[in-house]
Amino acid sequence: MENIKGKVIAITGASSGIGEAIARHLAAQGAKVVLGARRTENLETIVAAITAAGGTAAFKKLDVTDTQDVADFANFAVAQYGTLDVFVNNAGLMPLSMINSYKVDEWHRMIDVNIKGVLHGIAAALPIFEGKDSGQFVNVTSIADRWVGPTSTVYSATKFAVRAISEGLRQEVSANIRVTLVAPGPTESELAETISDPELKKLAIEKFRTDLLPAEAIARAVAFAVAQPSDVDVNEIVVRPTAQK
Ligand code: NDP
Repeated sequence: MENIKGKVIAITGASSGIGEAIARHLAAQGAKVVLGARRTENLETIVAAITAAGGTAAFKKLDVTDTQDVADFANFAVAQYGTLDVFVNNAGLMPLSMINSYKVDEWHRMIDVNIKGVLHGIAAALPIFEGKDSGQFVNVTSIADRWVGPTSTVYSATKFAVRAISEGLRQEVSANIRVTLVAPGPTESELAETISDPELKKLAIEKFRTDLLPAEAIARAVAFAVAQPSDVDVNEIVVRPTAQK
């Protein structure tokens, strides 16, 4: 696809679900993709599949809660392929729970991964983008970046935060740096596995068992934004299953 071929694109949380789909789809369009996550065995398998299909891909172990790790990840992309064009802040978790079940550790974890992880991504990639006065952030939020319901309070709060961060970032960076927010509705992935309450996990899986988007649908939305000419910044894309009203 025009404007994707040859771009160096780093993706956090690329070991499953949406991040994996973004990596596979963009690589199939000719991008050089760099995958990061903690489960390196998954990354190795995905990179091998991309390479076997004729694509260009590399991976690095990454914990987005660690500032230095994320900086090393962005620098690894540059060392590997000479530059960095797009940084996809995708890593996230969603341990839904009612506030009065006081899963305080899970609140902290969501804040650490979903919010601080994105800030670490910005701190890592923005100096590289500023150094060449071009680049693009793609921040994966959720329809929960504008919606709150029982059990989603903290998860929604993290995604509202990423929406605010993305908008502030867009306004503050140079005219040549793009910021795109992609907000998926329920999508096939391993996300529900992060719910520790067995009843809630069952409910979440049952509720969303039908009408799920394939992760590929979100990857296509990301590709659309990346493929635009550099003077076009797609600020926001919301993707829901058609049947979800
Ligand atoms: P998955 O659970 O399949 O993927 C989550 C990814 O995040 C994994 O690759 C995981 O890798 C990574 N991750 C988690 N913690 C860390 C960490 N500390 N450091 C680095 N990577 C980490 O779920 P999805 O694909 O669904 O999630 C991707 C994004 O999409 C999330 O931000 C989620 O909030 C968002 N989203 C998902 C929706 C859905 O319905 N699926 C809807 C709306 C938004 P590893 O465990 O190997 O580190």
